[in-house]
Amino acid sequence: MDIQVGNHLIMKKKHPCGSNSWEVLRIGADFRLKCDGCGHMLMLPRVKVEKNIKKIVENVD
Ligand SMILES: [Zn+2]
Repeated sequence: MDIQVGNHLIMKKKHPCGSNSWEVLRIGADFRLKCDGCGHMLMLPRVKVEKNIKKIVENVD
């Protein structure tokens, strides 16, 4: 799966704030993600993130 910093990930599970879109801030064994709805940041293991992805949205710059 090709994920880059700055991509937005549409997840299968919704965050409690109602958003299911997260911005990728850092990539490694753990991913650092920021919720597009409420700005909450968290670290998640790569495998867990990849299991939960519904769609990858690339930045259109
Ligand atoms: Zn949120």
